Amino acid sequence: MTAPIVRFAPSPTGRIHIGNARTALLNYLFAKRAGGQFILRYDDTDLERSTREFADGIATDINWLGIKPDHVIRQSERFALYDEAANRLRAMGRLYACYETEDELERKRKRQAARHLPPVYDRAALKLTDEEKAALEAEGRKPHWRYLLEDRSVAWTDLVRGPSHVESASLSDPVLIRADGSYLYTLPSVVDDIAMGVTHVIRGEDHVTNTGVQIQIFETLSGKSPQFGHHNLLTNASGEGLSKRLGHFSIASLREADMEPMAVASLAVLVGSSEAVRAVPSMDELGGLVDLSRLSRAPAKFDEHELDALNAKLLHQLPFEAVAARLAHLGIAADEAFWLAVRGNLARLADAAQWADIVAGPIAKPVGLDAEFLATALSFLPSEPWDHETWGAWTNKVKEATGRKGKELFMPLRLALTGLEHGPELKLLLPLIGEEKARLRLA
Ligand code: GLU
Repeated sequence: MTAPIVRFAPSPTGRIHIGNARTALLNYLFAKRAGGQFILRYDDTDLERSTREFADGIATDINWLGIKPDHVIRQSERFALYDEAANRLRAMGRLYACYETEDELERKRKRQAARHLPPVYDRAALKLTDEEKAALEAEGRKPHWRYLLEDRSVAWTDLVRGPSHVESASLSDPVLIRADGSYLYTLPSVVDDIAMGVTHVIRGEDHVTNTGVQIQIFETLSGKSPQFGHHNLLTNASGEGLSKRLGHFSIASLREADMEPMAVASLAVLVGSSEAVRAVPSMDELGGLVDLSRLSRAPAKFDEHELDALNAKLLHQLPFEAVAARLAHLGIAADEAFWLAVRGNLARLADAAQWADIVAGPIAKPVGLDAEFLATALSFLPSEPWDHETWGAWTNKVKEATGRKGKELFMPLRLALTGLEHGPELKLLLPLIGEEKARLRLA
């Protein structure tokens, strides 16, 4: 098999959400696992609603998730290709001019509904003579252009859904070009997929019907069509679809909330597949778990709490090298010993700041400490150098001297040393705090 070429084709009319990220990641991991290429294609033919700012934002979002596109293309720079394809379709008799207004089409649909017929365009425009068309244009009407579908069943083997088909006879001939000359999404997408040699079109299952139409256009223009895979869509926890316009779970907001990109990527890819959802530390490893044929057919629920849990689990296993630069960027003074001591207590990376502050001090002294007990404990505190054995050796002596054990023994020490009742293991924290500060805090 030749290496796959895939594309992720967002319209830059908003920022991408976790469901869009799922599409991008499934494409990327599918291609990269097989040594293929990933194209980022901006579907920005809608010049009014698309912005450069959204486009750049989407690039930032997918880069953050670990996706490095091999090519970036913008449909707004490729109109000449679409015009050329439209002309070829016209010459082949597969793209025809229609003059009905929206109102006229609506009336046709109502008449069909009254007779219990499906609301399929009746192809009246195909019967127009050149004189009739000229007369309509003289009235000031501008044509919109429909693709003439072959009335047949279009079948394909879907990478996710298996054998699939669309009955073209139940569809209206799709409008490819509006009366104002602008392109709908359908044709430019096919033209670019052909031009870029796209081998696999992996997208959400909301595009299944488009596939019936697009396979016909692919075959008309190039004699063949790529493979298709339609993955299930993500919903929120109550089962509602995600909206880019409403900013649901945008990747930008998850990044700003200090989420780990691999936690987001792991959930976006594994939710709604037969793989157990877990925090996968690298894209290579995640790619090894992607199997389009094992995605669920049912919509998958995206649950924020699940993401929080994955995020924490991922942090708890990350090595220092993986976070050193980001800790520095957050202004958190950290070395490997610090990281290994605190990572198990973090929900978000930035939470490490709290522990850096506690290690560095000063800390707020808790009220109601047992001064007598702490004085005894202080008298047994060994001198530095300290290591991970120090805590155990010290507290054993305090235990013998005071007869305390368990919580009675440890909680006052933890409170005095950190100011808090919970936190990282003290055998790791104590050497970081150091003798000088420890003595002050116990005194
Ligand atoms: N711009 C389309 C979308 O965002 C692309 C669909 C496709 O992948 O073909 O839905």
